[in-house]
Amino acid sequence: MSFPSALPVRIDETEIRALPKAEVHVHLEGSFALVDLLELAKQNRVALPGPAATLFDISTHDAFSSPAVTTGGGAGAGSAGLTGFLRFLDWQCGLVRTREQAARVAYAFAARQSASGIRYSDVIVNPTHWNTWHGRELDLLDALTGGFDDAQSDGLCIANIAYSLLRTQGATEAEDIVRAVTGARARRVVALSVDGDEKVAGRTGERFRDAFGLAAASGLHRTVHAGESSGPDGVWDALDLLQAERIDHGVRAIEDPALVQRLVDEDISLGVCPRSNVTLGIYRSWPEHPLPQLLAAGIRVTLNTDDPATMGTTLEADWAVAAEQFGFTRDDLVGFARRSIEASFADDDLRRDLLAELVDVAGSPEDPRPAEAE
Ligand SMILES: [Zn+2]
Repeated sequence: MSFPSALPVRIDETEIRALPKAEVHVHLEGSFALVDLLELAKQNRVALPGPAATLFDISTHDAFSSPAVTTGGGAGAGSAGLTGFLRFLDWQCGLVRTREQAARVAYAFAARQSASGIRYSDVIVNPTHWNTWHGRELDLLDALTGGFDDAQSDGLCIANIAYSLLRTQGATEAEDIVRAVTGARARRVVALSVDGDEKVAGRTGERFRDAFGLAAASGLHRTVHAGESSGPDGVWDALDLLQAERIDHGVRAIEDPALVQRLVDEDISLGVCPRSNVTLGIYRSWPEHPLPQLLAAGIRVTLNTDDPATMGTTLEADWAVAAEQFGFTRDDLVGFARRSIEASFADDDLRRDLLAELVDVAGSPEDPRPAEAE
């Protein structure tokens, strides 16, 4: 099928699903389906913290909404709801206790992505949330990898792992993690990431400089949460100190013209997630989000969900809302699909194949208009 350009109609989610694409900023911890959570709780005989119908509405659960120091960051934002959000991630990941359960979570993630027409994902995994696997992080990775293997064998979304450090971890611990992961040659681990609340941890670029240096020397890609709960400083640090190839969020780079120019000059892509930013209070509404300005500046921007299940969304729903809110055409969405594949850490052959499939579905990237016009 082909997509006629610039029709002045609301873009249907079915057409968005039909576009071959990648998602590069999505957390496994934020992708548990409600039905899977209920099954895991039942298997482990763990009581739900509230009614199933409002399980993802963490503001309703006293156990998650009480003030406390946060332990980690799926989305890593900075609103009053963040502490509860992160505690909820810890609770649900704590329900995954066996290899079979971990593999099933991985498989379900790939199936969920496939339903959105996502052919490849770099999925962020932060083992600090998975509290029954502490000290056995490599076993967790192995179990997840088994689930991703089965999914790929069944023709579902191909997933590789961005192993995420927690921003409040120490320098030595971070370096030990990188050595362990690279020493074990953990399959499907293609990148090192860091997430968590930048407001709680402060500037951590220096702390993680050596860990990211080790990752780079070992051939791992680097992607860094920054410019969300931190301002432009966090993005500068990610580039200057952590050898970041991609920035997760990075939206507050728009506040610093020199930083915008740096991102353009070095072709650093931003994994932007407007719904997450609005949900967690970085921006008050979609119209206030700087996505159009980031695009207009010429930055390679991708459009992602961050934590789709916890945010109650899908990628196609968020692309449709973005199109409606910002006036994106089908061609614009094809551009998002193309950039998502180009920015991914998929190997060269897979990226080439997916880009060719996208051209088959949507037309050549040179036609009807040049990429830089997007
Ligand atoms: Zn995130």
